[in-house]
Amino acid sequence: MKKKTINVQSEGETKILAESFIEYVQNGAIILLYGDLGSGKTTFVQHIAKALGIEKPVLSPTFPIIKQYVILSRFDKLTVNSAKELDSSAKPQNDIRIFYHIDLYRMETEQDVQNIGIQDILTEPNAIIAIEWAEKLGSLLPKKRWDIHFEYVDEFKRKITIEKFEARNPKSETNSNV
Ligand code: ADP
Ligand code: MG
Repeated sequence: MKKKTINVQSEGETKILAESFIEYVQNGAIILLYGDLGSGKTTFVQHIAKALGIEKPVLSPTFPIIKQYVILSRFDKLTVNSAKELDSSAKPQNDIRIFYHIDLYRMETEQDVQNIGIQDILTEPNAIIAIEWAEKLGSLLPKKRWDIHFEYVDEFKRKITIEKFEARNPKSETNSNV
């Protein structure tokens, strides 16, 4: 599958789509979301975060622009909690992934986008990154990415198109996925 369009009939179907999508997404994945206000980008990201096991509520990150969440596996949660009981300064060590939720709506220029440190985030190997209003990335657009377009059809219906882009010449890009 390189490109697929799904006509969801309800937010419940958007949730199912987000859950099934994230199962195929690996560390280092960059998920770019496009579409008008109210088309469902944040809702989709919220369902992704829940499916990743993030318990904190994921709100729209307009203020601040970048929100960061730690993803712990069930096993990590057990060990972290018991370590915490023994040592209140204990921090989780292994296999931690970070989920970034970024909203570029208020970015006016590509320079603004650079100034928030986007390039460092985009090259983090151990993260999953979701970016709303990704068209603002301009020339910073990563080659290896998932593009997801949202179209409002009616109050509950949305047309969602998912497209996967691979780095075109993987040999010359071994050190970067940007
Ligand atoms: P955006 O981030 O694109 O501006 P939001 O996700 O914040 O959009 O808002 C989408 C709104 O539409 C939410 O209030 C959500 O409950 C509602 N909604 C209704 N049906 C759907 C659907 N099928 N998929 C996603 N959101 C939906
Ligand atoms: Mg939004």
